[in-house]
Order: sequence, then C-alpha cells, then structure tokens
Amino acid sequence: MERTASCTCEQCNITLEGDPAFVVACNCQVCQTRTGSVFGVGAYFKGPQEESVKGPFKAFERPTDNGKTFTTYFCTNCGTSVYFHAGSLPGMVGIAADCFSDPSFPSPSNALWVEHKYDWIEFPEHWTLHQGQP
Ligand SMILES: [Zn+2]
Ligand SMILES: [Zn+2]
Repeated sequence: MERTASCTCEQCNITLEGDPAFVVACNCQVCQTRTGSVFGVGAYFKGPQEESVKGPFKAFERPTDNGKTFTTYFCTNCGTSVYFHAGSLPGMVGIAADCFSDPSFPSPSNALWVEHKYDWIEFPEHWTLHQGQP
C-alpha cells in the first residue's frame, strides 16, 4: 500500500510504502510549537524513502535533550512540516500523520512526554503513556 503525505498548498509531498512501524502522539513542547497544536502525531516508517520526496522542502535541524538532532522538513511555500528525521531513530523517517488527510490512518498506541500534556486531554486507556521518551 502506498500513502502520500502532503503540505497544505500541495506543492510538497512524500510517498511511503507499507504501514508505519509505529505511531506516537508526542506532547513535547517542541512538537507543540512545531505543529501549533497540543501534540504531534508522528508515524515512523522504515527507510529514508528519499526517492519519493517532491519538494522544495527546507530543513530545520535542532539539538535534542539526548544529545542527538531532530530535523524537520517543511514546505517553502506554506510552511507545513511534513516529515522529519530523528537522530535517535536512524534509518527511519517520521511523517506528520495529519498530512495523510486520512481519518482511517493507524492510531497511535503510545503517548510521549505526557508531563507536558494539556490538562484537558485524555488519551485512550489502552495506550501506553510515557514520561519523556522511552
Ligand atoms: Zn506547501
Ligand atoms: Zn515531540
């Protein structure tokens, strides 16, 4: 199965093969500002799958608390951040799951950084909640 994640203006996209290895809801403060929302939903797929990227994207790299880097790729026209590379997850590409515009997309099963979770959010009981990032 092939899925395409697109930015808002549809200038940029990335196409992925297969299902995500895992999907997380990240409540860290960087995901909150990156998305402008209260948490980010990241779907991680195996392989950089760079050949399926249609840009132009701009990269923004920042250091992380664990001494690695996190690089976000965003559309140069509309600013949507569509995909990312986490230095702690080499060989994987993370996709902003909402960019698939598919309500049937696989659900997260984990929430990270729940110490920064907004008070009014309640995640499903069967999810695993983590302080920080496991
Ligand atoms: Zn765009
Ligand atoms: Zn995060």
